[in-house]
Amino acid sequence: VQPPKAKPKWLRVKLPTGRKYTQLRGLVEKYDLHTICTSGSCPNMGECWGEGTATFMILGNICTRSCGFCGVRTGRPEDVDWAEPEKVARSIKIMGIKHAVITSVDRDDLKDMGSIIWSETVKAIRRMNPETTLETLIPDFQGIHAHLDRIVEVAPEVVSHNMETVRRLTREVRIQAKYDRSLGVLKYLKQQGVNRTKSGIMLGLGEKEEEVIQTMTDLREAEVDVLTIGQYLQPSKKHLPVKSFILPEQFEKYGEIGKEMGFRHVESGALVRSSYKAHKHIH
Ligand code: SF4
Ligand code: SF4
Repeated sequence: VQPPKAKPKWLRVKLPTGRKYTQLRGLVEKYDLHTICTSGSCPNMGECWGEGTATFMILGNICTRSCGFCGVRTGRPEDVDWAEPEKVARSIKIMGIKHAVITSVDRDDLKDMGSIIWSETVKAIRRMNPETTLETLIPDFQGIHAHLDRIVEVAPEVVSHNMETVRRLTREVRIQAKYDRSLGVLKYLKQQGVNRTKSGIMLGLGEKEEEVIQTMTDLREAEVDVLTIGQYLQPSKKHLPVKSFILPEQFEKYGEIGKEMGFRHVESGALVRSSYKAHKHIH
């Protein structure tokens, strides 16, 4: 199969506009704040920022893993910055964020895998921004319950962990991860009483329809509440190629199937990212 060349028109992105967006953009530059939205040049900035949602990455910019789809650098990570929780909390305050999504690189190099910074970050945000709701998009912490418990204890409104792809492609797409381990993480979070659990997958990596539906079924069995489905786009030539651009109708179909399966929320569309419209996933 020849890989597709030009991006179809539904993936061409409108430039973000709006007063709130312009205002936030100014603050981000003035105070040198770091959001995933800007560093990944996310296509949804106009929409998300307009609604007071932004995503922040903690524990540095270098990851110990090397997933084939991900634009984050791999290598030896920096030392942990214990002032980071306060910095993130302050950024959220300056930006007036109503719903913050926190995510991190994987820190398999640390004994606690970063889970202490994770919980300190949530606590600092709560202290400084008591009105802000939180979604923690966490790594698998190698499935270790003691680390996951630190997240459960600080009770974010939503806890997400992404499957990213179907079972068959997991090895190729995220080499150091395991399909069943990720499912186990989601299941454990629910068993520990997390109110909203959430997961996301990307399409266009060569998966078949029945495999997507199987993954959705597996996620429902793990009692996951919210599902996001989006189009994979190649961050650079060195990353996995796009095998296909999924048609808008197909995204709609998965959205319908997901609702019938009983997910509380399904966001399914080409430009959907795990944190897209995240503020809607808390109600
Ligand atoms: Fe930021 Fe996520 Fe929205 Fe993109 S989808 S603008 S990364 S909050
Ligand atoms: Fe990227 Fe996360 Fe994979 Fe690290 S673990 S390479 S940040 S997707």
